Amino acid sequence: MKVKGFLKDVGGASRVTRARLAAFESASATPEKTDPIGEASKAWHPGRLELKVAQIRTCTKTSKTVRFVRADGGELPYFYAGQFIALEFPMGETIISRPYSLSSAPYQARGKEGFAEITVRRSKGDGFVCDYINDTLKEGDTVYGTMGCGQFYYEPLRDAKNVVALAGGTGITPFASMAKEIAHGTLDMDLTILFGSVSSDDIILKEELEACEGEHVHIVHVLSGDEPGWTGERGFLSADLIKKYSKGDTTYFICGPQVMYNFLHGELAKMDIPKRRVRFEVFGTPKDITRFDGFPAEEKEAMHNLTVVRGIHEDVIPAKAAESLVVALERAGIRIETACRSGECGLCRTKVLSGHVFICPEGDGRRAADKEFNYVHACSAYPVGDVKIKIPIL
Ligand SMILES: Cc1cc2nc3c(=O)[nH]c(=O)nc-3n(C[C@H](O)[C@H](O)[C@H](O)COP(=O)(O)OP(=O)(O)OC[C@H]3O[C@@H](n4cnc5c(N)ncnc54)[C@H](O)[C@@H]3O)c2cc1C
Repeated sequence: MKVKGFLKDVGGASRVTRARLAAFESASATPEKTDPIGEASKAWHPGRLELKVAQIRTCTKTSKTVRFVRADGGELPYFYAGQFIALEFPMGETIISRPYSLSSAPYQARGKEGFAEITVRRSKGDGFVCDYINDTLKEGDTVYGTMGCGQFYYEPLRDAKNVVALAGGTGITPFASMAKEIAHGTLDMDLTILFGSVSSDDIILKEELEACEGEHVHIVHVLSGDEPGWTGERGFLSADLIKKYSKGDTTYFICGPQVMYNFLHGELAKMDIPKRRVRFEVFGTPKDITRFDGFPAEEKEAMHNLTVVRGIHEDVIPAKAAESLVVALERAGIRIETACRSGECGLCRTKVLSGHVFICPEGDGRRAADKEFNYVHACSAYPVGDVKIKIPIL
């Protein structure tokens, strides 16, 4: 150790201490009411926001794009291209939440004129919120939302610069956001999107994607329907097709319906890609939980009592075994915070006080401590028998 350097350090430290003491002595005795660091953090991560529907436009014959701005005229928080917004819709006596990937780019959300967009496809008759958005939501309405959720974004420290996106249907939305940000020059990555649609008039965000094409954004449409005259790629997103558009070290980002995921698991396995180079977006609540291994067959149509403890309040509500605890709470008009509705984010973490739940095997985001202390993610837990849970008061 150099003694001179050591003494200098010690001397320096005592000078800092003296300066601190002097600052304390000259400070006002009245407590400072403002908290600039807290305020800045609130401005960047405001949590739940009231949003106004500024515009609704038709995207394809089965989908619409909805533009939101902040209802209080303030600025929207920052998000990464690829992330989703958890939106809450007042429906009847209750509030229902759903995640939607942002199809607009982060740069479009900045500043006083900033906006955020989602693109939502209507159902084939069994939908709920998606049909509400397509048929009932109107310009001027307000909803609540939490922006910048999820892990499905490009991270240069983790991902290869060359990204091949495998998208199906509305699974294009996170990639539309990335493509727009790249074209704007504020995201440094190379993106090739293999986009599967049924027919050419069914291609979601077609013009917006084409406007982004250039040196770093390449879009390949793949039609699964038998469309005469189509000169582009046909079929499904097979291993051969993926190989054709991959070059060098590549990260694969995948977003689409559950059937596409099942198919792609097989195709990617044929390609021998390292696990760290494949990123799947979560796909939400399964359409039919009863088809999963381990779900008790006799529970398919069963109804149970769900006792919900909030502080000193206790409510007993009906709950279908085939619907998650979150859906039972929403049906009963009891608000619980949710975001991904896929068992991943943990926002709806709930303590099971008694009874048994079935956990969706594809949405089991519980940590070891959750398991030990009987916590579940209410969006991926299904009551098999009467259950008592404790949730936070909102
Ligand atoms: C990360 C992520 C991003 C997504 N991004 C997009 C996107 O960009 N675009 C898009 O179109 N979709 C997207 N989705 C899917 C979207 O979240 C919805 O699942 C989809 O719009 C269908 O919603 P739905 O309510 O119509 O149908 P479902 O989610 O299938 O809901 C129907 C279910 O609602 C429940 N329900 C019925 N009635 C009631 C009631 N009265 N009270 C309470 N619950 C009831 C029942 O359980 C019923 O089965 C995304 C999903 C995830 C996970």
